[in-house]
Amino acid sequence: MIPYGKQEITQQDIDAVVDVLKSDFLTQGPQVPLFEQSIKFAVDAEHALAVNSATSALHIACLALGVGKGDVVWTTPITFVASANCALYCGADVDFVDIDPLTYNLSAENLKKKLQHAKENNLALPKVVIPVHLCGQPCEMEKIHTLGQEYGFAIIEDASHAIGGKYKGNPIGNCEYSDITVFSFHPVKIVTTAEGGVVTTNSKELAAKLDLLRSHGITRDSSLMANDSHGGWYYEQVDLGFNYRMTEMQAALGVSQMSRLHDFVAKRNALAARYDELLKGLPLVTPYQIEDSYSGRHLYVIRLNLDEIQKSHKQVFDELRGKEIGVNLHYIPVHIQPYYKQLGFNIGDFPEAEKYYQKAISIPLYHTMSELEQLQVIKVIKETL
Ligand SMILES: *Cc1c(COP(=O)(O)O)cnc(C)c1O
Repeated sequence: MIPYGKQEITQQDIDAVVDVLKSDFLTQGPQVPLFEQSIKFAVDAEHALAVNSATSALHIACLALGVGKGDVVWTTPITFVASANCALYCGADVDFVDIDPLTYNLSAENLKKKLQHAKENNLALPKVVIPVHLCGQPCEMEKIHTLGQEYGFAIIEDASHAIGGKYKGNPIGNCEYSDITVFSFHPVKIVTTAEGGVVTTNSKELAAKLDLLRSHGITRDSSLMANDSHGGWYYEQVDLGFNYRMTEMQAALGVSQMSRLHDFVAKRNALAARYDELLKGLPLVTPYQIEDSYSGRHLYVIRLNLDEIQKSHKQVFDELRGKEIGVNLHYIPVHIQPYYKQLGFNIGDFPEAEKYYQKAISIPLYHTMSELEQLQVIKVIKETL
């Protein structure tokens, strides 16, 4: 089976992890700050904080921005459930903004309409909006940011798919148009730490808050304490945080992987360009890319023109899997998940997202994919369609 995604672990990665195992620190040592440095440098943000997953990162990002009971967070229905669950963890409500049928990202146009509608009808405006850079392709951040200024919401970019990408010439994660950006380092993503996440921000206050939240709300910084120190052992819990820390082994793997980030993303882009070229003329839509952007190309999603194919979406999917092509589908719209349906969402609520779901297939793409493997994928797609 040619998988839809795959990590690359080199001898350099293995050595980096083994060195940590032989060192004094398995957690809370020097590797996490080094990993954070590598992210700050790569994405040009003032602060980067590593945690144990992007899910944890999204949770503390919401908390740091004050999301709580009575608030609403808006995101896209075409994402992994974690982008929405983070608001529920904080006791807030979730709502969705339908996708742009060209890019499959949260539509800035639909966001504008939904905000206007909410304002005119005295409905709750969002406290935070979470655009997700699906497949690595950036959302229209400038427009979303302008709406944020107008309607007073904060922005968390879910860039789990997008490390190494650019928007209007600048690295995704520099938070030019957002308060916080979140990255994931799960093995299917562009860079891996096994499990892991990072938040970036340019705000000193948010960084301090995120730092507290990832480690129990405990501080050893006297400027944050309510009382004078009792002695060398002293620390204070000043907030209710969690244990969301990343281990030293994960961070060392991350540092080692980050040294190859640009190579990973360049290879993904070259493979995507070859798919664009060689899938031309088939009854499918290849990924549309917005102007002035450079996608991290985490996923390559094709959309089937089912009117021209004498097979159903599921038939095509099953046939590809049957012929050893490890296709997948990203994502089932979050609002039709049973958990979200019992919160009041229904089929029909976000029609573009649902249309996308009926036609989309993610085909294999990972930076170590060989030319032969890619040609095999293309050959099987041609046979199947
Ligand atoms: C993978 C992913 C997450 C969650 O990442 P973890 O690191 O596995 O917690 C969140 N959002 C999106 C869009 C993702 O793809």
